[in-house]
Amino acid sequence: MQLETIIGLEIHVQLKTKSKMFCACANEFDKTSPNKNICSICTGQPGVLPVVNEQALKYGVMIALALDLRVNKWSKFDRKSYFYPDLPKGYQISQYDEPLASEGELKILLADSEKGFGIERLHLEEDAAKNIHTKDYALIDFNRAGMPLAEIVTKPDFRLPAEARIFLQELKLILRILKVSDADMEKGQLRCDANISLRSVGDTSLYPKTEIKNLNSFRAVEKALTYETTRQTELWNKDERPDTESTRGWDEKKQITVLQRTKEGASDYRYFPEPDLPPIVFSQKEIEQMKSELPELPNDKRKRLINQYGFKLSDVNIIISIPGLAEYIEKVISEFVAWLEASDGVEGSSMEIWEQHRGKVVKIVVNWLLNNFIQLLNSSGHEIQDVNITPENFAEFLTLIFERKVNSSAAQMILEEMFKTGKDPSVILEEENLQQESGGKKLEQWIDEVILENPGQVEEFKAGKEPILKFLIGMTMKKSRGKADPGEVDKIIRVKLK
Ligand SMILES: [Zn+2]
Repeated sequence: MQLETIIGLEIHVQLKTKSKMFCACANEFDKTSPNKNICSICTGQPGVLPVVNEQALKYGVMIALALDLRVNKWSKFDRKSYFYPDLPKGYQISQYDEPLASEGELKILLADSEKGFGIERLHLEEDAAKNIHTKDYALIDFNRAGMPLAEIVTKPDFRLPAEARIFLQELKLILRILKVSDADMEKGQLRCDANISLRSVGDTSLYPKTEIKNLNSFRAVEKALTYETTRQTELWNKDERPDTESTRGWDEKKQITVLQRTKEGASDYRYFPEPDLPPIVFSQKEIEQMKSELPELPNDKRKRLINQYGFKLSDVNIIISIPGLAEYIEKVISEFVAWLEASDGVEGSSMEIWEQHRGKVVKIVVNWLLNNFIQLLNSSGHEIQDVNITPENFAEFLTLIFERKVNSSAAQMILEEMFKTGKDPSVILEEENLQQESGGKKLEQWIDEVILENPGQVEEFKAGKEPILKFLIGMTMKKSRGKADPGEVDKIIRVKLK
């Protein structure tokens, strides 16, 4: 029997609002000062009234619109009753049968095609307090009680564990672009429970699902689902497929899932409408207004960058994973074409240049901006907005490469210097005398040969024996029959053996 995997996700997103969901306490989960951001509302004292946080509501709508969900013009809050020490009121304010938004789909461009993943609903609710268990007693930190959450429930549309991971990574990108959550899984700002069941291919029914909890990273989501697929496949093959719903926890150390409990029938949360909060009402106009204010979403950007510039999908995925990089690259490309238009060496208007040289321009951009520049960026720990190099200077630098005015080792030096000092590339070129002169290529070739032919001396020089350099210069001079400039040879060897 051929089996297929059916996966759905339940995701909680911690919203980055100033205050909590229903009170004015700071929305800050500060572990170092427990029970600091609390008041009579979020600790559930009798006689207090909650007030809906407008910013949280707005963030919920923004996420819903970005996931192409229908924002409901009328929705309401409900009380979900259960008893647990981290829930001071004895109920959680959530949304039950009339959620903020319903029925959406997130489309993601994958290697072979664009795939859509269905989303059932998005609703708002408050977080519970945090229990901290020690050997002898338990502590409760109410800083987290009442923090705003958006819960997103997907349809069982994932067939592979990797698809679930990709969906979550895309969601994180969207949340960060919208600036509504930092969505760090390890910090609990993005939490995910995954439901999984199997069925034979062609069967359309759904069988009792297993819920996996304690997934603290994208990797954990994929690994736990892969583990569970294998485990359940073995059960199906033995004709012992799961016949009740169960909850299992992911054990990161052992890399296995462990049974926590089985569920006989649905839990009864005795939902009822929250009498202290008015319904949430939106007009069509308000919804459209908010939709028009959304920034460009990752999948739209992905498709646009591919169509407009001819980038590869893998390059585009790198570009959109670094905040601000796409905008930077687009500015560089537009300046780059302007530099080429102004250059004596290239003919035509900017439009003609773009049409004629697009392939070469993009290749240089990928090589120098995506590879070399990102390496410098990563090793410095800087963000794009702190970078010294203006798009105009970067474009001028790429023009030097386009016109073969510098060779690649000189270009690498110029880029590093620009990154450090923010200087104009032409100034660095002048100062360092890195201009490639006629015969420069030949010179490089002689030096490369000398380096290859004298590995022992090269090692000694690298180890700090400065006088060996004279020997290497001498060998190059000999090879060039005296045509090389010893000063230049000196410089190039030093760069190559740095
Ligand atoms: Zn409070």
